[in-house]
Amino acid sequence: MELHDSRGYLDDDALRAFAGRRRVPLFRLEGLVSFYPHFRRTPPPRVTVRVCRDVTCVLAGGDQQCQRLQDEFDDDQDVEVVPVSCLGRCDAAPALAINDLPLAPTTLLDHARVCELIDAPNRIPAHLPTTTVARYACDPYATSDEHYATVLARAKDPDRLAADCINILKASGLRGMGGAGFPTGLKWEMVAGESSSPKYVICNADESEPGTFKDRAILDELPHLVVEGMLLAALTVGATQGIVYLRHEYAREHRALEAAIVAARRRGVLGNQAAGSGSPFDIDVFISPGGYILGEETALLEALEDKRGEPRNKPPYPGRHGLWGEPTLINNVESFALATSIIHHGADWWNQQGADGFTGLKFVSVSGDVAVPGVYEIPVGTTVRDLIRLAGGMRDGRKLKAFLPGGASSNFLTAEQVDTPLDFDAIRDVGSMLGTGAVIAIGQQHDLFRLATNIVRFFRNESCGKCVPCRIGSEKAVQILEAVSAGANSPDELSLLHELGETLEQTSICGLGQVALNPILSMMKHFPEEIPS
Ligand code: SF4
Repeated sequence: MELHDSRGYLDDDALRAFAGRRRVPLFRLEGLVSFYPHFRRTPPPRVTVRVCRDVTCVLAGGDQQCQRLQDEFDDDQDVEVVPVSCLGRCDAAPALAINDLPLAPTTLLDHARVCELIDAPNRIPAHLPTTTVARYACDPYATSDEHYATVLARAKDPDRLAADCINILKASGLRGMGGAGFPTGLKWEMVAGESSSPKYVICNADESEPGTFKDRAILDELPHLVVEGMLLAALTVGATQGIVYLRHEYAREHRALEAAIVAARRRGVLGNQAAGSGSPFDIDVFISPGGYILGEETALLEALEDKRGEPRNKPPYPGRHGLWGEPTLINNVESFALATSIIHHGADWWNQQGADGFTGLKFVSVSGDVAVPGVYEIPVGTTVRDLIRLAGGMRDGRKLKAFLPGGASSNFLTAEQVDTPLDFDAIRDVGSMLGTGAVIAIGQQHDLFRLATNIVRFFRNESCGKCVPCRIGSEKAVQILEAVSAGANSPDELSLLHELGETLEQTSICGLGQVALNPILSMMKHFPEEIPS
């Protein structure tokens, strides 16, 4: 990344020189560079405008915006307009970035405006305001600056700390918030039980699924809870090194996180005697060279080991055989933040937080046709209807037609299912999944077949290509869908998607291939009237 970012590209000479210096075969470097979308092989133009082409931005007219910008700068050698996958700013759809700096939504991006922004880069808002509650119920330090009280009070007795953390987390029933929902306390216990060392704690901050941007808000506004959660985990499992794996689009969040890490080091919370425990623990930030698949935990490990980020076969799981073959605890940003809060307040407090018999709190990204898209902290069990109300209701009085409860990989649900509580099991029971907690509300005016095709195209684009069924099957699905859309094929062809979906589900080694066709299949099931005739 450093070599690439210092010049903005990697040409043959730079790669050859690097291979010689590091004694790495050139073909290995070529393999790496060709895998990651962030790396380019030719000098960039003066201005690169990246335009998101995924589902939430399409809802907000992203397709038209991209086309308009491409037409505008068609013969301009200084400017390139590149359609890209989700920029993590679905709350500002249609999302744009100029030279990697996010831009507020605008319909006035013409040549003069681009030049103005480039000449005065401080006019580019590096942060788009996120709608969050002013004071988080999960932040134990909301009324004071005395961060890290939880770990400082417990670190003197590491054995007791480990037992307490595991017991409290198990009693709370906290499940991983990265999508899979694995019980957090059990995961910490399993890694603590491994005898091999060194051990690692990794925070997965590579959220890249269209509709998902809640970790961005947590990193920006509650980074101390993430740092403390990683430290509590490290003292519990016996890890000495922590790594935050962060997507490169989150420059502002990177600064907030680094500031929290530096402050924690200054205070002795991180370092050779972490929080006075007698054990060392520190945190590095690794900037991802891009790609949705890097959010898959074993692909992330491959990337950290300087390889192509292709998921590993599981088992063995990272808890036993993780980074460099050593036991590795991986949780996402939200899981670490909530773990800190639960360990501070206790499991009983957590169990009282839910709505209507559910337990706990949850951060949810809300996007699509709502009046105030953003990140909301809600009691688990809040219904989708209430969440949409919290987000200002449907924009411009539009009527809800459908929604995706867990981002682009979740199944479409209907407006009649809007009273479903936001909870892992409740959403599963109605045939979808909570995933990372990313509700995309879709109004009556939208063509659901086109949106579902867009999602399949996203998974086709982001497939790492390791498994033949995912690589070829997702491409075949896109071909079928585009041909039917264009009227070149009969809608009868769509029946092939059921068989294809089943094959992908059974033969793909990671979640991307397993769910790639779920959105289109669920759309066709719930909304047969939307299928082109
Ligand atoms: Fe790669 Fe797809 Fe296989 Fe996952 S399922 S490893 S994304 S080819």
